[in-house]
Amino acid sequence: MKRNLTCIVCPMGCSIDVNIENGEVIDISGNSCPRGAEYAKNECISPVRTVTTTIRCSDGSVIPVKTDMPIPKDKVFECMKIINHTSIPLPVYPGDVIIKDVFGSNIVATGGTYNDNCGCKKQGRF
Ligand code: SF4
Repeated sequence: MKRNLTCIVCPMGCSIDVNIENGEVIDISGNSCPRGAEYAKNECISPVRTVTTTIRCSDGSVIPVKTDMPIPKDKVFECMKIINHTSIPLPVYPGDVIIKDVFGSNIVATGGTYNDNCGCKKQGRF
């Protein structure tokens, strides 16, 4: 089986052809560097994705979150289900772990909510 991929590792977007036989990558061509070959191999054998989304807070607001490591592509839907069924108490700070060990990755806040009276800035959190 042949697959054609567009490499997303860097902005050059090389077109990569991958030849797969019996679940194994036999040949890779079109990549301009080894990173592209690694990407193409992983994408064909065990694709992963970083999930970037938002999560609901206890006051009804939402904050941005992401997985701190890529997770298997076929687990993205289940990951989103877990995030969508979670409501978190405030305050939340960027970098806080919101949900631990979701398919091998933590869900971490990439934004947060705080008020200036809590001393967060003095504590160096922002
Ligand atoms: S193969 Fe290398 S040069 Fe081409 S898009 Fe991928 S990372 Fe960039």
